[in-house]
Amino acid sequence: MASIALKSFVGLRQTSPENPHFAIQGKPIINIQPHHHQRRQRLHIVAGKFSPKVTGRNLRVAVIGGGPAGGAAAETLAKGGIETFLIERKLDNCKPCGGAIPLCMVGEFDLPLDIIDRRVTKMKMISPSNVAVDIGQTLKPHEYIGMVRREVLDSYLRDRAKENGATVINGLFLKMDSPKDGTTPYVLHYNEYDGKVGGTGEKRTLEVDAVIGADGANSRVAKSIDAGDYDYAIAFQERIRIPDDKMVYYENLAEMYVGDDVSPDFYGWVFPKCDHVAVGTGTVTHKGDIKKFQLATRNRAKDKILGGKIIRVEAHPIPEHPRPRRLMGRVALVGDAAGYVTKCSGEGIYFAAKSGRMCAEAIVEGSENGKRLIDEGDLRKYLEKWDKTYWPTYKVLDVLQKVFYRSNPAREAFVEMCGDEYVQKMTFDSYLYKRVAPGNPWEDLKLAVNTIGSLVRANALRREMEKISV
Ligand SMILES: Cc1cc2nc3c(=O)[nH]c(=O)nc-3n(C[C@H](O)[C@H](O)[C@H](O)COP(=O)(O)OP(=O)(O)OC[C@H]3O[C@@H](n4cnc5c(N)ncnc54)[C@H](O)[C@@H]3O)c2cc1C
Repeated sequence: MASIALKSFVGLRQTSPENPHFAIQGKPIINIQPHHHQRRQRLHIVAGKFSPKVTGRNLRVAVIGGGPAGGAAAETLAKGGIETFLIERKLDNCKPCGGAIPLCMVGEFDLPLDIIDRRVTKMKMISPSNVAVDIGQTLKPHEYIGMVRREVLDSYLRDRAKENGATVINGLFLKMDSPKDGTTPYVLHYNEYDGKVGGTGEKRTLEVDAVIGADGANSRVAKSIDAGDYDYAIAFQERIRIPDDKMVYYENLAEMYVGDDVSPDFYGWVFPKCDHVAVGTGTVTHKGDIKKFQLATRNRAKDKILGGKIIRVEAHPIPEHPRPRRLMGRVALVGDAAGYVTKCSGEGIYFAAKSGRMCAEAIVEGSENGKRLIDEGDLRKYLEKWDKTYWPTYKVLDVLQKVFYRSNPAREAFVEMCGDEYVQKMTFDSYLYKRVAPGNPWEDLKLAVNTIGSLVRANALRREMEKISV
């Protein structure tokens, strides 16, 4: 089971191979010229469909939330000729987050290297009994995991959306009035803070033709469309400034700790940032004990962070699975608002930005660069493409979490397995590029045997531990 899961995990699907020609159900074929993710280059639709034309203006879309999902969505919309409004309640928001991003995100989203604090090329996976396995030895010289501070990444993406024509509003979205038919606008209610410090802001309304909910795990847009709830983990993190000589150790190295002490169902981490480390952990099942798990994570790393000063304490929910409903009418959810975080790794930044972009592309395509109204069918194309591309990834990581994070013996087996070069290569390739890593049948067979061996040893170990605790 585990080896099958791992094999599927390492064989993640290729992300969104863009097909420039496709047919809309019952409608003519349109031709989209790919934008190659370059700034200011536009996505042009050159043949038509038959939804009502927008006259005297272009299609108006509001993006609620200016995290990676919202920033990426607003940029794509603005580039595609849509009149775009990005509403963010806090323009200097520091989203609680480990800030680890895969290499492919740097290229796909054209991120400048100076917004990446650290390039991690070494990762230590540390077992419940403190056996440390070095992973990352298979990385090529140019490969790394990027470490960002979210206040830097998010504001960069928002600024870029603005440069491309989006109107950025510093405001708190409150609610929306739904239209009575398919052509009348949504009326958004929000408090505008622009230019003011403190206070509750000015009450405002905005009329738009469509809405993208990119307002994170506690999404008000999701509530507005009655999207339903999801299970969530609570994740806790401390930013700790450590002495320079200690920082040298973490220069290009990150640590992951597993064990009942740091989390019953997740992992603890130490991720390096510009002048500090981010130390954190998470749990779905024992949320009330999160501070105890955090203390244990800090204790496990204590020699390496000795003399450190906590400069920020932060916590936030992480969705566990997609919401029951992700779109209604001309409103769609993306990123955490939709529930796009992978289990096992807790990764959500790339998936947020990617879903924001994918949803915006569906709107640009469906509206023919803002010239026509869109309908639910246009937004559904984004969901179909998303599910086709990423559903297997989410499922496999779910299985892996169940197999390997269920007990300390299983975690020991997991860490042992991570010592295998083939596992490392396949895992890193899948994480860094979100694409199929070509396998080697002989190595796959060895991996299957080794995985079973590790789990058998783990069970034997568990029996020994049970005897001790009797
Ligand atoms: C402690 C922790 C560690 C994590 N570590 C990692 C990691 O290392 N790597 C990784 O890939 N993922 C990580 N994640 C997950 C990642 O943070 C999320 O998946 C990601 O932030 C989702 O992006 P988003 O744009 O969908 O939502 P968010 O980043 O939550 O952005 C939502 C935005 O909407 C704004 N907003 C909310 N409500 C309103 C409103 N009513 N009006 C206006 N604006 C509003 C917020 O201010 C915010 O800017 C971590 C999460 C946590 C909690």
